[in-house]
Amino acid sequence: MIEEKGYGKINLALCITGRRPDGYHDIDTVFQSIALCDTIRLERADDVQLTCSEPALPCDRSNLAYKAYEAMRPYCKGSSGVHIHIEKHIPIAAGLAGGSTDCAAVLRGLNRLWQLHFSDSRLCEIGAALGADVPFCIRGGTARGTGVGEVLKRLPSLPDWPVLIIHPHVAVHTGEAYELFDRQTIQSPVDINAQEAAVRTGVLERVMDSLGNTFEELVIPIVPEIRHLKQMLHREGLRPLMSGSGPTLFALIPPQHKHHEIAARLRAVLQDADIFTSTLVTGE
Ligand code: ATP
Repeated sequence: MIEEKGYGKINLALCITGRRPDGYHDIDTVFQSIALCDTIRLERADDVQLTCSEPALPCDRSNLAYKAYEAMRPYCKGSSGVHIHIEKHIPIAAGLAGGSTDCAAVLRGLNRLWQLHFSDSRLCEIGAALGADVPFCIRGGTARGTGVGEVLKRLPSLPDWPVLIIHPHVAVHTGEAYELFDRQTIQSPVDINAQEAAVRTGVLERVMDSLGNTFEELVIPIVPEIRHLKQMLHREGLRPLMSGSGPTLFALIPPQHKHHEIAARLRAVLQDADIFTSTLVTGE
């Protein structure tokens, strides 16, 4: 049996830089892995089965973990029967790359189970065809992503700073969020060079001063729940930012502050959101 962790991600900064003729969007972003993760177990078997601890998630071909299996199957030399189980902890459709990280974990896991010896670059090539965030999820750590997010430049690892993940119970569809970009002019472009420079200093204040996400300008005006949540978190002295296309917010917490205590206080007042305490994690 093989076990792989699929770490979630946040975007320390994200700028949508344009729309491509094929309808996809170019972005420039600083990705960061977090310790909040799914666990994926893979075991050789006579048949192929995907199961998940989260009943709401379909375990058919629409599941990115299954797509990862299908993409790897042609390379398997012997029997390709396998049972894959996803123990889901990352909220679904939250902007935390939950599906992409399960996909990446299955690619890595099958590479080990079938002893294929593919390099990470090769896995990233296979993964890029399955989802824009999959290559980052294969490598993890801290990286600048361009193209649709699949062109990666590794950045120095940040310390394991505490981070609060606040997932409000509202839906934001990534496709619809990108459609908003196509219909309006962005007023405050996010400076990704500033965030890359901040990451290179390794100074928390600098990283916090350079947080930004184009999706906030697009999504928050039409989803009042996120605006209210941000205002509430600001009143608590936090500096929240939306991850990806939302709706999840994250807040980096200076290590001298007790992030478990802050989380407990927030849980007492926030009924319509799940709050996770986590930390940043470094890549391979
Ligand atoms: P990203 O940040 O990469 O845009 P996300 O965190 O917003 O991703 P996901 O949790 O990856 O969103 O889910 C996006 C969609 O993918 C959902 O509609 C979900 O049904 C589908 N999906 C397919 N496979 C999975 C999986 N293994 N885990 C979660 N979602 C999955």
